[in-house]
This record gives sequence, structure tokens and C-alpha cells, in this order.
Amino acid sequence: MTDRRNVLTGLAASAFLTPQAKASGFSKETMPSTNIVVIGGGFAGASAAMQLRNFCAVTLVEPNDHYTACPFSNLVIAGHRQFKHQVFPYYGLNAMGINVVKDKATAIDAEKKRVKLKNGSDIPYDRVILSPGISLNWNAIEGYDAAAAQIMPHAWRAGDQTLLLRRQLEAMPDGGTVIISVPPPPFRCPPGPYERASLIAYHLRHRKPRSKILILDAQDKFSKMPLFEAGWAQAYGDMIERIPGSESGQVVRVDPKTMTVSTDFDTFKGDVINIIPPQKAGLIAQSAGTADGSGWCPINARTFESSLVPNVHVIGDATIAAPMPKSAFSANLQGKVCALQIALMLSGQEPISTKLSNTCYSYLTPSHAFSVSGVYDNADGKFSSVTGGTSPVDADRSLRESEAWQAMDWFKAVTSEAFG
Ligand SMILES: Cc1cc2nc3c(=O)[nH]c(=O)nc-3n(C[C@H](O)[C@H](O)[C@H](O)COP(=O)(O)OP(=O)(O)OC[C@H]3O[C@@H](n4cnc5c(N)ncnc54)[C@H](O)[C@@H]3O)c2cc1C
Repeated sequence: MTDRRNVLTGLAASAFLTPQAKASGFSKETMPSTNIVVIGGGFAGASAAMQLRNFCAVTLVEPNDHYTACPFSNLVIAGHRQFKHQVFPYYGLNAMGINVVKDKATAIDAEKKRVKLKNGSDIPYDRVILSPGISLNWNAIEGYDAAAAQIMPHAWRAGDQTLLLRRQLEAMPDGGTVIISVPPPPFRCPPGPYERASLIAYHLRHRKPRSKILILDAQDKFSKMPLFEAGWAQAYGDMIERIPGSESGQVVRVDPKTMTVSTDFDTFKGDVINIIPPQKAGLIAQSAGTADGSGWCPINARTFESSLVPNVHVIGDATIAAPMPKSAFSANLQGKVCALQIALMLSGQEPISTKLSNTCYSYLTPSHAFSVSGVYDNADGKFSSVTGGTSPVDADRSLRESEAWQAMDWFKAVTSEAFG
């Protein structure tokens, strides 16, 4: 390795890490007794485990047999993708030498360096990678709890909720109103609610054209706003209405019995109601002491090591990594960079500064997409934006079609990197 300032952009990083690691002189032979415990097998944790398995013993703690992916789940909700394509079993990781433990982590004992599991046992570690994703702030919106989510689904963690929202849209009569409520930032996948509105509009336009979508938004501005607004006007006319935060768009109360949602000034009745609640880091991040008062985890952006608990690295949605968004693209790349830094540190070398990137694609229709991209620097232990931009607003159909294909290619690549 001649240049210690590296640019890790997107999936190119995967081709880079293994040769770099070998050139840096760490291997299973140089780190024979090292044990890394990864908590959470999502895009962040599984990607980190896949990288580190080449150099040391890796245990992945994850309560599920399989991972269900959120990216592309809006296509499932709109009836344009089969749910089975969202599901990735963990046996691929086992076959690649990662010790997958099917359980839930309940605590981290930082003094004894042990991860405690729900089944009562614990696992010793040299370093932990904590990647539990998000938890939902139940009752931050009055009346919105786990029971209410069975009537007004959030579908913000993929699985049964995705299918519930899909079934509700299927059952809704023509002329119905779909309400989508968007929380204040930060939340998982900043453009996700608006992609969801677009794809539901596509479904309704073709199947139930007298229906409406009302977005009740806590925000004034949102990711790719000019692209979405121009796209909605062109593809869906006035089917989508949005009330921004400054016009009292933020939902403060729900009543599942009457199928109503309230802002500070108005109450709206919906036929299908999708509440995306405020969020924070996954619950283990709170009990492990890695989350601060904001509910999210402060980190050193170069190493991803927690600012609060030594030898614990936090990656993915659970982190405070702004301006990097909470996306699967970011989570995958953070997993790979974190793996590299841990391997460097364990072999007695200094962590290096890197540049990381993100690209988020959003579907306007099932065959047209646009994107936002950014490059981020972590040189001084904080993330800063280097450059970024979006697809042009006035692009022709062929560019939108080609971005829809690029999105598919990205999903195939990122899921094979993470889940084998
Ligand atoms: C509708 C929607 C569309 C999206 N579209 C895109 C997109 O197009 N592009 C994009 O880049 N991103 C997209 N995202 C965002 C993306 O899904 C997330 O940013 C990404 O999943 C974050 O990865 P993660 O590994 O941090 O968390 P997760 O993927 O949530 O993984 C966390 C894992 O940790 C496990 N876990 C939690 N607690 C514990 C515990 N105590 N012990 C053990 N395991 C635990 C969970 O079971 C889970 O498997 C979308 C999100 C949504 C909701």
C-alpha cells in the first residue's frame, strides 16, 4: 500500500479491501486468536462479517434465519415484485466460515468483553461490531404502538408489515384515500416515503384511478424533492397531495378505530394509513450504552468506534453519520471500511482516512428511476460532504429507464456481497 489516503467509492471498495488487507500483512495467521462478534446481520453487519472472515474468527449474532431487505420493498407493496426476492437466508454466511449464532444480543459487558445473549450464555470478544439497524419510537405519535401498527402498518422494517400494507392496498375500493405520514429526520432511507407514494400512485392510477394519496409530512424539504415533484405532476397529475411540516403536516395522534390521523390543526380519515414513526438506533444500542440522548450512536467516523464504549464499533442505520444518509448502500460500505480499520488496528497499524460514497435510487414508476449520490470524507473523525448531486430533473425517459436497471444491478451486487 503506497498511498494511505484511500478513496473507497461504492462497490469498488469490495475489490479493494482484500488485496489491501493482504498488502497490510494481516491474515488468519497473524491474528490467530482474535474474535470479532458482529451483532445484527443486516446490510451493515453481514457485509462487515463477510470481509473479516478472511482474517480472523467472526461470530454473527442474529435472531432470524433469514434477512428481509427493505430496498425494493416499495415495489412489493405496489404489486410489482414478489416478496420472495426480498429474502436472503443466512446459511450462505455459515458456509463461508462465519459462525452464525441464532439469538438476540441483550447487552455488552465492556469490562469483561463479553456479549450477552437472550438464551443466557455469553460470547467473549476482542472487538464488537454493533449493527442493529433501527427501532421504532412507539407512542411518539399518540396512539401509535405495536397493536396500532397491525391496522396502520409502518412497513419500515420489511417482512409481515410489507405484506400487510400490500393486502390493504389490494382491498381498498376505488376512490379511497391512502395516507402516508413521514416523521421528522433523521430516519431510515430519507427518499423512501416519497418513492413509496410514487409506486402506490402507479398502482392506483392503473387499478383504482379515482383514489388519492395524502402525504402528511413533518419536513418541509425532502430528498430529491424537485425530481419527485416534477415526476408526480407528469406521471400522476393531482393524485398525490402533500402537506409539509410548516403547514402543520406533522402527524401527532392516530386513532386506529376511526381510521383517522391528526396534526395540530386537522384530522384526516384514510382508507389505508401508512404511519412511518420516528426512529432511533436498535434497542441493543441503547442497553449497550452506545446511544446518546438523541437515541443514535456517536462514532469516530474513521474507525466507526463508539465515542461512548471502547472496542465497540457501530455501523449502519444506528450511527450518527450525517451527512451520510441511513441507507443500505451506506451500511454496506461502512461495514467494509469498518472491517478494514479493525483489521489494521488489530495488526498494530494505524487506521487510515477514507472517502466513502452513497447512491440512493428511487423508483417513480416500476420502470423509471432517478438517484442522488454523495461522496464523504472521514479524515478528522467526522463525516463531511465532499461532493454530491442528483439525476437531472428534465432527463428523458431513456435515462430514467437506465437508472431503473442500474438500481436492479446495485441490489443484486450489494445483496450478494452481504449474504453470499
Ligand atoms: C421502504 C424502504 C426502502 C428502502 N430503499 C433503499 C434503497 O433503495 N437503497 C438503499 O440504499 N437503502 C434503502 N433503504 C434503507 C435500508 O433498508 C437501510 O438503510 C439498511 O437496511 C440499514 O442496514 P443496517 O444493517 O444498519 O440495518 P438492518 O438492515 O435493519 O439490519 C439490522 C439487523 O440487526 C438485527 N438485530 C437487531 N437487534 C439485534 C440484537 N439485539 N441482536 C442481534 N441482532 C439484532 C436485525 O434482526 C437485523 O437483521 C430502504 C428502507 C426502507 C424502509
